Amino acid sequence: MIKLKQINKYYNKGKENEIHVIHDVNLELPNTGLVSFLGPSGSGKTTLLNVIGGLDKAKGSISYDEIEIEKYKMNKVDKIRSQQIGYVFQNYNLLLEETVYSNLAIALEMIGIYDEEEQSKRIEYTLKAVGMYKYRKKRAYALSGGQQQRVSIARALVKQAKIIIADEPTGNLDSENTIEVMNILKKISKSSLVLMVTHNEEVANFYSDQVIRIKDGAILDRYMCDENQTLQTEQGNTIYLKDLSYKEEKGELVSLQYYASSEAKPLEIRIIEKNGTYYISGSEKLKLLEETNLKVLDQHYEALKQEHIEQFEYDTSWYKDTTRKENPFKKFGKAILKSFNKMRFAKKRAKFLYFAFGIIGVLLAICTIGFANYVIVDETHISLDEAYYQLESNKILSDTTISSQFEKMINNESIESISSIKFIQAQFSKKINFSESILYSFEIPLIGYYEANHVQLLCGQEPAVEEIILSKKLADQFIKKNTYYYPTYDSLLGIELQLYQGGAVTKVKVSGISDNPHNFGYLNDATYMKMNASSWQQVSSNQRLYSIEKKYNTYNILEGRDLTETDLESNNILLSSKYPNAIDKLDQNVILADNKTYHVVGIFEFVDGNTIADNFIIHQNKLDRAFTYFKDRCFTYEEYKLVEGRLPEKDTECIVSVYCSNEIGDNLDGIEIVGKYYAENTTLGFGALFTRTRVILSMNYNGGITFKVKDIGKINEVLEEKFYVVNSYEHIIKGLKEDQYTSLLVFGILSLALIVTISIFIYFIMRSRMISDIYPIGVYRSLGASKFKLFLQFISDIFVMVTLTSLLGYIFTTIIFDTIAANINNTLSMNALKSSIWISILGALLLYLLNFIFGLLPIVMLMRKTPAEIISKYDI
Ligand code: ADP
Ligand code: MG
Repeated sequence: MIKLKQINKYYNKGKENEIHVIHDVNLELPNTGLVSFLGPSGSGKTTLLNVIGGLDKAKGSISYDEIEIEKYKMNKVDKIRSQQIGYVFQNYNLLLEETVYSNLAIALEMIGIYDEEEQSKRIEYTLKAVGMYKYRKKRAYALSGGQQQRVSIARALVKQAKIIIADEPTGNLDSENTIEVMNILKKISKSSLVLMVTHNEEVANFYSDQVIRIKDGAILDRYMCDENQTLQTEQGNTIYLKDLSYKEEKGELVSLQYYASSEAKPLEIRIIEKNGTYYISGSEKLKLLEETNLKVLDQHYEALKQEHIEQFEYDTSWYKDTTRKENPFKKFGKAILKSFNKMRFAKKRAKFLYFAFGIIGVLLAICTIGFANYVIVDETHISLDEAYYQLESNKILSDTTISSQFEKMINNESIESISSIKFIQAQFSKKINFSESILYSFEIPLIGYYEANHVQLLCGQEPAVEEIILSKKLADQFIKKNTYYYPTYDSLLGIELQLYQGGAVTKVKVSGISDNPHNFGYLNDATYMKMNASSWQQVSSNQRLYSIEKKYNTYNILEGRDLTETDLESNNILLSSKYPNAIDKLDQNVILADNKTYHVVGIFEFVDGNTIADNFIIHQNKLDRAFTYFKDRCFTYEEYKLVEGRLPEKDTECIVSVYCSNEIGDNLDGIEIVGKYYAENTTLGFGALFTRTRVILSMNYNGGITFKVKDIGKINEVLEEKFYVVNSYEHIIKGLKEDQYTSLLVFGILSLALIVTISIFIYFIMRSRMISDIYPIGVYRSLGASKFKLFLQFISDIFVMVTLTSLLGYIFTTIIFDTIAANINNTLSMNALKSSIWISILGALLLYLLNFIFGLLPIVMLMRKTPAEIISKYDI
């Protein structure tokens, strides 16, 4: 039993055009019977029926049997609607593209009957009952109005609805179909409740058990109907012969049967026969009966009585309840299949749309590619690794200020080591045969192997003097270019590289490959230091002191005599055996490089074989020059001998060559001399030796110093305010990013605009698609399909469409770009064009996201409306 309590309904509530459509309606309806709502147009009959049928919301409460619904909860109503209420609409609301059979099957599935046997049994029975069985395979649009209405009744019946809501079910039907449809409804009303709106008072009075009169949204009157009523059906198409006067005339050639009403005029007829055809003319208008659709009955007209209705048999007691929940995968699978078919059988216009969606994919791919190119920082050419830090300042500062910072950091032991990374142009060249040779140039950021404690060797060994270790990245690039001759890391061991620095060339051999993922070369320390030293002033002095050389017994006399005490402070010298025509100069005067004249008393040669042409040995107490602060000298343990004092222990200490005039304990520019050394090496023989740190600091104060940090907290303790320490690698990346992000900003705004455009485009396309689909949506919704089910279908539609259109466009564009990028990058040997699989995947996700959000937006908005609103707003 349905009970309505205090139902009120407004349209446009709170607005100027507010209409109070239903006024305080209280109503109880029986469980069975046919109840008709009669009333003038606009009186609120449809609205009231929609409220009862759950197609519309209203204020008040309504209960179906025990279930009471206050302030309509739509999903609860949806369930009751689909299970218990059947709808018969004035305009039938069949799914026009579906067959008669599947219109009914869909209605069954909506209440959870998926069992095909049960489905077909019920459908067959119901269709037979309404006389539509032979049309079961026809699509709904191919049926006449009366046929469609019968199918729509069958649809309500097949699910055994307890309540049938019929809003002007015969409004669009002719009188004959009206009678037939009404007969069916009447019969159903024996076992369920039929609520019907009609304009036709006779029909209402004849068929109804009770009539409710509505006026201005309120119940005006309610009365039970007389069972003995008859219905004067229209006679339009039927001729009842017994109601006409009859005369018969039999002639020899023509016999005539004449039926006429009392108004008939006298008639003259002429019949002419020619070639077996009879031509008729008459004094009144003539029509051939076969050419009309009149039915001729040899009986009297009889008004319809209740007994006449009984030919419709209907019994649903055998229906089985096979209701169950559908497997969600199957549900989704079905939805996908449906979406797929929708696309396959789409009309031309829609196919153009798919093309447009393909273009969306292309555009979004372009956005993604651009984004990737601006957001990915190309780290491949960064020639540092994360282990190094550098000192930065927001002011331009003098070298001494910077060096004093380092001094402080060194003194409080907050840094582990100091290094200077040199960018050296390296070249490998090798002649393969007459026509072929390899020439490979590349830049190596170089560092002493001393610094390599954080790397692992992948192959080879530590670098000896004049050997180098390459990082795996450099090795990989080398191998990539020269795969044919150098396919593996091992094949690179022993190859000779030329390092160019200034004008000088240092030859080094590759001794190993390290796992450092960045561009890096680790040079033997001594070689590294020597390279650094030689980059400074080239100091050489070929003048040697007799007393010192004698002490270390470094030379042999080849000709003439050795120097003696008598030669002290004279201009007598020993001349190098390498001097041009040295023998001839014996006992002669020569003018040497310092423009002084010397007298040669003997010819000598160094025992180590390092004699050069300019060498000469002189016997004086001191060399004729002041101390030179050779800050470009370093010590290499193999090449010097400590002869006095000790080695430097602090970065503020040094040892000087025995040739220096300064003595131990002297302090030069804050650096204390703590020892003296002797070195046979000409270059080294005249310098000062400092600690490694001091040397590196002296190499390059201008921010070119990197260091490893031991304790960043301690660093910050000693640094002056304007200084700060940054990780070099991050610093470089930050710089690159800052550059790229400026471009990204511009590009990002463009992309954003494009994405907004795409989104709007998607929204409107999906909206227009939805509107063109509004009819079936309205039908599904009014039949009680849950919002979720409709959402699911839309989600699946979007998913299938995006996958088959936009995603293809997207992937296509991305692949083309990647191919081009790979070629260009290969040609240029750098990452000029960047792409990232992750950003591509992210872009694809964005593609789906945009489509889901903006594609579903119209349907989300539509689903907020009640079924009645959907039907009326879009006027299906
Ligand atoms: P009936 O079915 O008796 O002809 P309705 O129930 O369709 O009447 O309509 C009752 C009143 O409500 C009418 O005045 C109609 O104009 C108004 N109405 C119906 N639907 C809407 C709507 N969606 N928005 C605003 N007014 C409406
Ligand atoms: Mg109406």
